[in-house]
Amino acid sequence: MAGRVDTPQKIRFLKYIFAQGGGVKPGDIAGNFGIRTPTVTRTLHELSDAGYVRYDSNRRVFLTDDGEQMVWFLIRRHRILSLMFTRVGLSENQACVQAEKIEHLVPKNHINQICRSLGHPSRSSCGVIEHDPVCCGVSV
Ligand SMILES: [Zn+2]
Ligand SMILES: [Zn+2]
Repeated sequence: MAGRVDTPQKIRFLKYIFAQGGGVKPGDIAGNFGIRTPTVTRTLHELSDAGYVRYDSNRRVFLTDDGEQMVWFLIRRHRILSLMFTRVGLSENQACVQAEKIEHLVPKNHINQICRSLGHPSRSSCGVIEHDPVCCGVSV
């Protein structure tokens, strides 16, 4: 069983690797986020130990299948939390920023509980919310 992605930085790295389609160099990540390469390398090692990323022979980073599933959940979690915040009156921008601040702390069962309470929504201002069959049943 793969480990948890428990820091905002790990979430940003996984989403970035996903957005690039894999094949990312640690230096690319460092440049994109304005942080030092050794810091990136250390975090990537943790993600690799957790089973979410792998390296090829040129030291480029790719998501594993577990990593792709994790990114799917990270995107769903962000958008559900963002929608929750807009429903209680935050602006779309505030909702997105607040969701980014807390999302790494909110476990999947709570996300599914929020999803249920919002009526299994399919959109937030941050984008499409894909249905999790465990939570939302078979989508129509
Ligand atoms: Zn957002
Ligand atoms: Zn749901």
